[in-house]
Amino acid sequence: MIQLYIPLNFLGVIYREIKQSMADMERLFSLLEENREIADAPDAVPLQIRGAEVHFSHVDFAYEANRKILLDVDFTIAAGTTTAVVGHSGAGKSTLSRLLFRFYDVSAGAVLIDGQDIRHVTQHSLRQAIGIVPQDTVLFNDTIEYNIAYGRPGAQRADVVAAAKSAYIHDFIESLPDGYDTMVGERGLKLSGGEKQRVAIARTLLKHPAILIFDEATSALDTHAEQAIQSQLKEIARDRTTLVIAHRLSTIADAAQILVMDQGRIVERGTHAALLNANGLYAQMWQRQQMQRHVVQEEEPGSGEL
Ligand code: ADP
Ligand code: MG
Repeated sequence: MIQLYIPLNFLGVIYREIKQSMADMERLFSLLEENREIADAPDAVPLQIRGAEVHFSHVDFAYEANRKILLDVDFTIAAGTTTAVVGHSGAGKSTLSRLLFRFYDVSAGAVLIDGQDIRHVTQHSLRQAIGIVPQDTVLFNDTIEYNIAYGRPGAQRADVVAAAKSAYIHDFIESLPDGYDTMVGERGLKLSGGEKQRVAIARTLLKHPAILIFDEATSALDTHAEQAIQSQLKEIARDRTTLVIAHRLSTIADAAQILVMDQGRIVERGTHAALLNANGLYAQMWQRQQMQRHVVQEEEPGSGEL
C-alpha cells in the first residue's frame, strides 16, 4: 500500500477529476480506500462469474437530485457477446460504464452480473472482473513495464512482454533507449495517443477480465490508426462480454446488439442491418458518418499516425 501524505481536500479534487475521466479508476480506488462514496455492503460476497452476462434492469440514474441522466435503461449483454452503445454526446453512454464499474449506485432498478446485483458483491471482485480501455489513458510516472503490469500486480516481465506483443507495442518499446525500463508519463517520455492506447490494451490483456468496456476507445485516433486498433480490440473481445461505446459506427457494425441512446433513454436497439432498415436515428447517424468519411478521405489521403 502506498503511503499518502496529501491533504484530504486535495484528494477530493483528484478524486472527482479522475472519476470523471474514468482514467485510472482501479488505482484510484485502491489509493482512496477510505474516501469513496460507494462502500461494500456488510454482507458483501465475492462476485461469482459464470458466463458474465450483464443486465441493466430498468435503471434510472441521476448525478444530481433534480436532473435525471438515465431513464428506464433496460438491456442484457448475453455472456460472451458484444453490445455497442451509440448516441450523441451527453446521451448517457459513459454513465453506463461508470454504473457497471459501480462508481455510483443506480437511483432505481439494478445492475446485475450473472444474476448478482452488483451492490451485493465486493467491489474488489467486481473490479477484478472488469477491464476498461478508456478513451484517454493516463500513464503513471513510472516505467512502461510498470504501466502495463499494472493490469495484474505481480506480473512477470515475460507476461508483460507477451501482452505488449499482442497489443503490437513490443517493437516500439524495444526501440526505446531503456526498453521496458523507459520512464513514461508526464515527467517521462510522452507517448502518442495511439501508443498510450496500446499500453492500455496490453494492460487489459494482462488483466484478462471476464467483462470488457471500451469507452470511445478509438475516437482520438484517425481512421487508419483506428482500423489497426479495432482489429486488436476485436481480438481481445472475442468470447468476452463486451460493452463498446463508440463514436464511429463503422467500428461496431458487427456487434451482436447496438443500443442507440438519446437523452438518457434507449430509443432504438438491434443489429446494424435491422437499425438501418428501421431508418431512424441510427440510420441518420450512419448516413452522416458515411458522408464525412468520404470527405475526410478525399481531403487527407493516407494521413495515418500510429
Ligand atoms: P456520453 O458519454 O453519452 O457523452 P455521459 O454519460 O458522460 O454522456 O453524460 C451524460 C450526462 O451526464 C451529461 O449531460 C453530462 O453532463 C452529465 N454528467 C456526467 N458526469 C457528471 C457528473 N459527475 N456530475 C453531473 N453530471 C454529470
Ligand atoms: Mg462519454
